[in-house]
Amino acid sequence: MGSDFTGAPHEVRVGRVVAVCPSCRHSSLFLRAKRKRLPKADSRICAGCGAEHFYTALLEQVTLRTIADAERALDNARSARRNRS
Ligand SMILES: [Zn+2]
Repeated sequence: MGSDFTGAPHEVRVGRVVAVCPSCRHSSLFLRAKRKRLPKADSRICAGCGAEHFYTALLEQVTLRTIADAERALDNARSARRNRS
């Protein structure tokens, strides 16, 4: 087919948090990019807009959002405790 991607569209997720395409900020489905010369430069192609992103960058986005969510949950727990007393 001559396409530069392979496999089925899939989400990049850690736990419950799913990476969203940094380019269109809409699609969370990615295709695995074919990289014959640089097998270590593992990248994903957005199924929505076709932009290419490093897999590690997508994982980092998920990690950062997981931390932000955890901090928000912690803040909510703190204010809930304040409201009770
Ligand atoms: Zn996109």
